[in-house]
Formats: sequence, structure tokens, C-alpha cells
Amino acid sequence: MKNLCVLGATGSIGKSTLDVVRRHPDLYNIIAISGHSNWRLLLEQASEFKPDFVVVSDPVHAKTLEAELGHLDLDSTVLSGADSLEYIASLYTVDIVMAAIVGAAGLQANLAAARSGKRVLLANKESLVMSGALFMDAVAEGGAELLPIDSEHNAIYQCLPTSYRCGQRPSKDVSKVLLTASGGPFRSMTQVELERVSPEQACAHPNWSMGRKISVDSASLMNKGLELIEACWLFNIAPKDIEVVVHPQSIVHSMVSYIDGSVIAQMGQPDMRTPIAYGMAWPERIESGAQHLSFNSIKDLQFETPNHALFPCLGLAVEAFNKGGVAPAFLNAANEIAVDAFLKGKIRFVDIPDIIERVVANAPSTPLTDLQTVLCADDQARQLATQYLTKNRQARAI
Ligand code: NDP
Ligand code: MG
Repeated sequence: MKNLCVLGATGSIGKSTLDVVRRHPDLYNIIAISGHSNWRLLLEQASEFKPDFVVVSDPVHAKTLEAELGHLDLDSTVLSGADSLEYIASLYTVDIVMAAIVGAAGLQANLAAARSGKRVLLANKESLVMSGALFMDAVAEGGAELLPIDSEHNAIYQCLPTSYRCGQRPSKDVSKVLLTASGGPFRSMTQVELERVSPEQACAHPNWSMGRKISVDSASLMNKGLELIEACWLFNIAPKDIEVVVHPQSIVHSMVSYIDGSVIAQMGQPDMRTPIAYGMAWPERIESGAQHLSFNSIKDLQFETPNHALFPCLGLAVEAFNKGGVAPAFLNAANEIAVDAFLKGKIRFVDIPDIIERVVANAPSTPLTDLQTVLCADDQARQLATQYLTKNRQARAI
């Protein structure tokens, strides 16, 4: 029996994780779950899985949850605040931590899980983008077992030799990593059409059902930019070793090309339960609930090059990674602020890359030495992005 802590249990990845656990009550036990605003779902999850700990951000929600759980005769301990996330991620009773909080908010708890030597199932790519070196050091120092959950990185991991572990440099046999991208819902649009797209259109991904932030990232190709940086850290490679390939069907989840001309691909339905189940059971396999591919019904598998002119976010991410230091943290923070503003109808979709570019251009060449540097950079970049947002809105109002 393996004991799990699910950070971000109320989100898309969190719910899929609990769905896999639900299918294997003999193999997995939920020790702790966390949520942010959706305390009602957290209550439902707590009454089903009876964890020892439930963490919610707001202390007022924590009081409500405690009372509701008391009425149900459940004795889970309810905690609140960011420190409590670190606490549950490093509990000695926990074997596996699903890192599925969205954005920078997941960073410290993920680091705590890595330092405590857990099996870390990493969905939260933003923490790796912000502080890749620190996170990979924490994994090495804590002796953690890092398994990628992001479908592309999980695919790459599956296509590498079975002896390969995250953080190691792949052997010389590997010539290139092929990172696939669906291209998102706006792949075939023109610049003029892109200027008018709504948050609802951006969140309607053609293949994947995901949280709102990552859906917008997919539409802007920033998701691929973040994933390229994620791949550089996870697999100890450089951007030049990665080729982004647009594959609209999202059936091939990524590939590894070897020096002898072989290309190994991982395929499956676009269902996150497959990589989640892989991470939970590794090195074994368990049933995930995902449908199996039917090759009779696959009509076409297309592969294209990304349109950098229409979707500049991918290039901005590569530039930030090459700049190094705190630049990727600036990129991530600016993106979080811009996406949130777009989702709230404050800016246009096409303003997102513009704001990010301005913020990253202001990133100092500070080396990334410790967590405090990352947190300061995150804060500074958020303030800058907010200023540019205001200027953008004023300019558009004139
Ligand atoms: P969701 O928005 O669906 O869920 C996010 C989770 O984080 C929720 O549990 C939410 O709580 C919680 N949360 C939000 N803000 C905070 C905060 N400030 N402090 C603590 N918890 C917070 O996102 P997804 O599940 O789609 O994505 C989660 C992560 O996984 C992201 O980093 C994403 O990039 C990555 N990922 C997701 C994929 C997917 O298919 N969805 C695929 C690959 C990677 P609440 O809902 O209660 O407010
Ligand atoms: Mg992905």
C-alpha cells in the first residue's frame, strides 16, 4: 500500500489522480489533500477518501471544513495556509506527492516534497520553470524519485532507456527530443482573428480538458515554452536538443530520436490519467481508466512546424531560458499575471506576449542562488507586469 498526498486535489489533475486512486483501493491510500478556493469539493473528497490531513488556503474555509467534517463524524485534521502545504508534502507517512497546484503557488511545497525524498509526481511545471536548478538540487539532495506527469515529459521519459532517471544527461545514443504541441484552439487563425478571441474560446481546447490557466497557455503556445524549459531541467538538455513539433491530434505525446535513425514515440488517448497512473505505479503499470487507442478510427496524424510569428510566447520562453538566472521566473510571473488579466477580460489575447516581453526585458542578470532570490524575482516581475497591464489598458482606452 502506497500513501499519497495530493497537492491541488480540487483541480483537473488532482481530480484525475483521485480517480485513479479510486480504481485501486488495495494499492493506494490518501493521507493528505489540498485545495484553494473550492472547499466544497475538498469536503466531498475528504468524506470519500478520509485523509489524515486536509489543507485549504483560507483559515475561514478551514473552520467551515472542520465543522462540516465534524458533522460527518470524520476526524481529518484541517489546516490552512502555505506552510501547511509544505507540512503535508513532507509528512513521514507520505510516500508519493502529486504536485498539482497551478502556478508559482506550488513551488515551496514541491521543494519540501523533493527535500523529504518523496516520489514526486510533477505536474506543476511552473515551479521548475521558476527555479529549475534549485528544484533539481533539492531532488538530488533529498534522494527524491522525480517522475514527470506533464504528458509530453512523461512520454519522453517512457521513450528513454528504462535505466534513465530524471536529472541525468541522456546517453550519447539520443540525438534529439521531439516535443509535441497540439497547437491549441487558435492554430489556424490569422492575426486579426486572434485579436478578437474570448477567454471561453481560449479555454475550449480541442483535445484536452484542463484548468483555465494551462488552457490559455496552450492557446498562446506559452505552455510549449514552459514545457521546453521543463524538459531542459528534467532531462538535463539544452533548447537546441529539443524540436517542437505541432501535432494537432494529440495522439503522439512526444518522441525521442536516436542516432541510428530510430524514433521512439509514446501514444495514447489525450487523458491525463495515463501519465498519472504511470507515475503512481512506476516501474509497474496499472489500469488508469483511460480509453485505449483504436487504430481503426485514427484517420490522420499530422505534424507541422510551429508558427512563431503568430505565437511569439514559445520564442520568449527560449530567450528567457538562455538568458538564465531569474529571467525564467520573470517570464513565468508575467505570464501568470497576463493570463489572469485576459481571463478577467482586462486585456486581449494578443497582449499576453507583449506584456511578457516587456517584463522579461527588465529581468536583471541576477544568478539564481536560493529560494529568496526566486521569490523576490517573482514578486518584482508581478509588480512590473501589473504596471504594464495598466499602461496597456490606458493606451487602449484613448
Ligand atoms: P486547475 O486550475 O484545474 O487546478 C489547480 C489546483 O491548484 C486546484 O486544486 C486549486 O484549488 C489549486 N490552487 C490554485 N491556486 C492556489 C494557491 N494560490 N494556493 C494553493 N493552491 C492553489 O489546474 P490543472 O489541474 O489544470 O493544473 C495543475 C498543474 O498541472 C499546473 O501547473 C499545470 O500546468 C499542470 N498540468 C496540467 C495538465 C492538465 O491536463 N490539466 C497537464 C499538464 C500539466 P481550487 O480549485 O480549490 O481553487
Ligand atoms: Mg503538457
